[in-house]
Amino acid sequence: SLSSAACNSEANGSRTNLSSSDSVINLDHGDPIIFEPYWRKMGDKCTVVIPGYQSLSYFANINNLCWFLEPELEKAIKRLHRVVGNAVVEDYHIVVGTGSSQLIQAALYALCPPDGPEPVSVVSAVPYYSSYQDVTEFLRSGLYKWEGDARTFDKEGAYIELVTSPNNPDGTIRERIVKQGEGKVVHDLAYYWPHYTPITSPADYDIMLFTISKCTGHAGSRIGWALVKDEPVAKKMTKFIELNTIGVSKESQLRAAKILGVISDNCLHFGSSSSDNFFEYAEHLMAKRWEELMDVVGRSAIFSLPEYPQEYCLFAGKFTEAHPAFAWMKCNNDKIEDCEKFFRGNKILTRGGKRFVADPKYVRVSMLGKEDEFNLFLERLLAIQETGYVLG
Ligand code: PMP
Repeated sequence: SLSSAACNSEANGSRTNLSSSDSVINLDHGDPIIFEPYWRKMGDKCTVVIPGYQSLSYFANINNLCWFLEPELEKAIKRLHRVVGNAVVEDYHIVVGTGSSQLIQAALYALCPPDGPEPVSVVSAVPYYSSYQDVTEFLRSGLYKWEGDARTFDKEGAYIELVTSPNNPDGTIRERIVKQGEGKVVHDLAYYWPHYTPITSPADYDIMLFTISKCTGHAGSRIGWALVKDEPVAKKMTKFIELNTIGVSKESQLRAAKILGVISDNCLHFGSSSSDNFFEYAEHLMAKRWEELMDVVGRSAIFSLPEYPQEYCLFAGKFTEAHPAFAWMKCNNDKIEDCEKFFRGNKILTRGGKRFVADPKYVRVSMLGKEDEFNLFLERLLAIQETGYVLG
């Protein structure tokens, strides 16, 4: 098993053993292997060969503010955002990180004055991604302090609000909440891609975080990027990464550049029968899983799912629905107080509402797992609903 640090992140747990009909199904983590068949289909198109003499230096581009950012990755990121239309890139600095997890910490560091009279408050609206609290607290920094729910935050003074949109765990579209005082906002747009949600406008916030993990599914490459408007903030974020890891793996950056380049190329063939358009493929896959889940959930009143409005997606050129990476399921049965425990009793591991500072009647279920794992989940959910066998 993994360390407790890994358990707090999305990487929690081991792969489900599907050989046995009563095996444990692990839908707790957000490990994005759902897209693996697409990448198999791409064959050698994404293969990157790196000879031994290449990429020895710490430096990638000494003329760039983010001196360890590979120029090819910078180009590929800008191109992809222009193709998809989910974020403005003109007049932004790009800072690359070892996953967007590192960039969350870099942003906190960059937004706090080094000599402030007291730690800057860090808040996010409930239910929020549990790692925010964990990363804010784990080094007991004197720069910032976790203050919890943005909705009930009423302190004067400096604060940082973390806004996740679409939100992890519940898939809702969010805007900043706190209005008083001198606030800075970090927009975590990990899921603002057309397979998860309609792209309604190019985002142009001051600090926007993205990750290849949730975009293409290449979580193992550990590549994230920040689009930052303000130069001093981008410089401080770069400094954080310099102090933390002296840059970001060039091998990972080159691989990410290749993969992002391939999906941009493939976007040119939208809607054709021979389309290799990644977002079209991924949207179909997510829509199919959501339809199947909604069908099963709709057969009884025991569980319910949030509803998402149809919106016009500028990328798809039509009205589309959200298909979030996680299902935020509620148990409506009075006998089930703790839905995570209930599912665990049925050999289904989920992440309970309490982890997101929400009602324990909720659980977060990953929609990004392997096909057979997801199908087994549906089967078991159906059996629970038909027999209600653990309800009595
Ligand atoms: N932000 C959000 C909202 C996430 O859900 C995740 C991963 N689950 C991350 C950031 C971190 O992603 P990574 O470090 O893999 O880039």
